[in-house]
Amino acid sequence: MSLKTVLETGLETVLGKIETAVRDRGPGRKPVLVAVSKTFDAKAIAPVLAAGQRVFGENRVQEALGKWPGLKSAHEGIELHLIGPLQTNKVRDAVALFDVIETVDREKLARALAREMGKQGRTLPVFVQVNIGDELQKSGVAIEKTGELVALCRELGLNVIGLMALPPANRPPGPYFAQLADLAKKEGLDGLSMGMSADFEQAILLGATHVRIGSAIFGGR
Ligand SMILES: *Cc1c(COP(=O)(O)O)cnc(C)c1O
Repeated sequence: MSLKTVLETGLETVLGKIETAVRDRGPGRKPVLVAVSKTFDAKAIAPVLAAGQRVFGENRVQEALGKWPGLKSAHEGIELHLIGPLQTNKVRDAVALFDVIETVDREKLARALAREMGKQGRTLPVFVQVNIGDELQKSGVAIEKTGELVALCRELGLNVIGLMALPPANRPPGPYFAQLADLAKKEGLDGLSMGMSADFEQAILLGATHVRIGSAIFGGR
């Protein structure tokens, strides 16, 4: 099988599974598929673009700068999500290139983003990332500080559309997804970015509005 066929099969399969999960879940909006293209080059991304996918996720600003300006100018309607940690010295590049920032997790970053968006005249939707498993090594705001950060983002004029999280690896993700959904509801937020290749169907059943899927579309990294 050619590389192109393999890639298209991944996308079609994922879209089919999303449809099924949405049917099983019942009423609600259709989740947005964020195709996570980190580590894959423009050539590997091309077939997925050709198949009509327009929402993509990258976890590193520097890496994204190497491939997305060209892909964006060659294709209409691309929406690029930053799904990895953002250092304040990269905020300028991030605001210029990305369309959605999913990883707002601290006051300093919220302030830098608000300032830079004002400067560039680009009001990007953002998610607040929550450290839902309370893990030392993971980014994300602590669960008990989430309300405070969401409130600050709103005061700063950021367009907060939801919460994002990565549950701990090697533990059943269901309870974490449910907890994130509760937290979002409490904060009056509709958006829920949760679920990756291994667990997106369960995330959809628990209310995900955005699923971030890499390896199931592009293959192993
Ligand atoms: C890599 C990554 C994903 C996608 O992971 P897969 O298991 O390849 O689907 C989703 N979210 C974040 C934050 C990631 O870094």
